[in-house]
Amino acid sequence: MDKKIYNFSAGPAMLPEEVLQKVKKSFLNWNKIGASIIEISHRSPEFHIIIQNAEQYLRELLSISDEYAILFCQGGARGQFSAIPMNLLNQLNCADYIDSGYWSYQAMLEAKKYCFPNHINVKKYVNGKVMILKMEKWLLHTHANYIHYCPNETIDGVAIHEEPNFKDKIIIGDFSSSLLSRNINVNKYDLIYASAQKNLGPAGITIVIIKKKILKYSNPYIPSILNYKNIFASHSMFNTPVTFSWYVISLVLQWVKKKGGINFFEKLNYKKSKLLYQTIDNSNFYFNTVHPNNRSHMNVTFYLKDQNLNHLFLSKANESGLIFLKGHKVIGGFRASIYNAMPLSGVKKLTAFMKDFEYKFR
Ligand SMILES: *Cc1c(COP(=O)(O)O)cnc(C)c1O
Repeated sequence: MDKKIYNFSAGPAMLPEEVLQKVKKSFLNWNKIGASIIEISHRSPEFHIIIQNAEQYLRELLSISDEYAILFCQGGARGQFSAIPMNLLNQLNCADYIDSGYWSYQAMLEAKKYCFPNHINVKKYVNGKVMILKMEKWLLHTHANYIHYCPNETIDGVAIHEEPNFKDKIIIGDFSSSLLSRNINVNKYDLIYASAQKNLGPAGITIVIIKKKILKYSNPYIPSILNYKNIFASHSMFNTPVTFSWYVISLVLQWVKKKGGINFFEKLNYKKSKLLYQTIDNSNFYFNTVHPNNRSHMNVTFYLKDQNLNHLFLSKANESGLIFLKGHKVIGGFRASIYNAMPLSGVKKLTAFMKDFEYKFR
């Protein structure tokens, strides 16, 4: 069997080996300037090239027009859970929060501190499987200032593949675990955010793609570090940015481009997830609780019918070089996170292991 170790961690998650090798090679003496990338000023012309490249690659990959600003923020996606209502609302306003799983629910809870969020549960259970209502069936409020939703629920393994088509509404998407995993039409959104540690790079930095038109809403009383207008005006350098993560993101974006862009990864991710779901569905040993229409292509969750074997499954998987498959504690079971950096060979090794384990222990 393949001796290579495959890391299925949900985040911080695996990065392309090519990128890590590049970081390793240039870590002590970046670009032959005699200093490490983590030792130079974020305001130096050398660093400026990195951030220009990062923005340029991202714009190309997602066809982001000049109508949008790209901000590189701190505080993770959870920071955005606060920043969004603080920037876009006052205490009397309301916003629609679509609940499709753990993270979208957390975003709603945080928003409660700053406004009246409308909790809109779009989960429906059909034969024990969770399904997400079609967008046309979402019970939106006419007076809501924006709609917040999460197209890929990292913990639940639930995805909304549909794209929003709501007229005259501000649409906000938490793409933390799905940005660059498939094609999206950025123009359908007013704000897209994604913390880096899933599909984009190391932890510490969060990408915010925001329509310049809504920057005007920025509320002056919020902390400057969360104020979009301020972050935009200071070129994402109001305070010292996470230079290392920013640098690695630029390398990951370059790698995505080189591999064939989002089209390449969309196909690959579909293939990887299909292989896993087929393995689960074709067995009487494993099961998954998500309706086929809403299965994530990034985070594949599954359970063993015989829960007594959970511990053994994990330890045998570890021994075989398949690491970090344990599901999130709020839902248990197992989860294979298969972001862009996970090659098909990793998923093939996992499915072969699963079949073998089933054969031995059923
Ligand atoms: C991981 C994750 C978050 C939380 O990200 P932090 O950077 O830890 O704040 C929020 N939303 C989604 C969809 C996630 O996957």
